Amino acid sequence: MDFRTVSARICLLLLIALAVFSLTASLPLAQAAERSWLRVQYDPDVPAQTRVHVEAAVDLVADMLTEYKLPLRNPITVLVTADAATYEKLLIQYGYTLEKARQTAQSTSGISLWNRPVILLKGTTALHTRREEVFRVLPHEIFHQVQSQFGRQTTATWMVEAAPELFQVIAREKAGLEEAKNSLAKTAMRVFAAKEIPSAQQLMTPNYADFSALSRQGYPVYQMSLLMLHQLAGNDFEAVLQYYRLLNQGMSADKAFVALFRRPQAYFATEMDQYFAKLRENRPKTMQPL
Ligand SMILES: [Zn+2]
Repeated sequence: MDFRTVSARICLLLLIALAVFSLTASLPLAQAAERSWLRVQYDPDVPAQTRVHVEAAVDLVADMLTEYKLPLRNPITVLVTADAATYEKLLIQYGYTLEKARQTAQSTSGISLWNRPVILLKGTTALHTRREEVFRVLPHEIFHQVQSQFGRQTTATWMVEAAPELFQVIAREKAGLEEAKNSLAKTAMRVFAAKEIPSAQQLMTPNYADFSALSRQGYPVYQMSLLMLHQLAGNDFEAVLQYYRLLNQGMSADKAFVALFRRPQAYFATEMDQYFAKLRENRPKTMQPL
């Protein structure tokens, strides 16, 4: 073996080792510098593994926000709690009544506050052990912050939850966790398997409390909303963003809906009721929503 080749190889290996080392060593600093739009605070008891998953999910969402040209005006704070009790306590600190905090702590895995750029994540076994769970909850909640900063108040409730759901489905596909078509097939299966479902018109309520109540009663309202948006936009998240841009320009939610999707929401509700009725007739096989 030629001596020069050997030494060149050693040099190369050393260089690679050095590059890997300096990359790893500089990672926390680089993240802090890039994250002017978001900061994460962890309860001291949050496991290291959860933190790694949260950081990775935030990086992915940062890429998506750049790709979709969605600059956020107000930096977001994400508070990651160790357990449900701490989550409940934080909700109270943020103005929830005792009862509302308890109810919310039972029924949610994370929450994005409507009136300030703050997200709380509930520490659960799933959150602390499954990368998938972090990538499901965090992108959803971050997208609520996008909505808050782009005029979410004026939209029908189903859209308030459908857009973050589609966003997290796309995020999980980008992370290599699950293909969007599989997520949608599972979603369709949940709607198929539900004992009863509300009408699409009910999901169009402007009153968020009505929607939440349906959710707590076990109706698959998040799943239905996701399928509804997918019927309109497919995996084309640009169309969804266009809707928010129109709202941001001051257009009413009804007008923006017609401008983009070519029918009033009331017609769309009728179409969707027919779609859900058909979906529930036969067990979905290769579920590719239309
Ligand atoms: Zn939500």
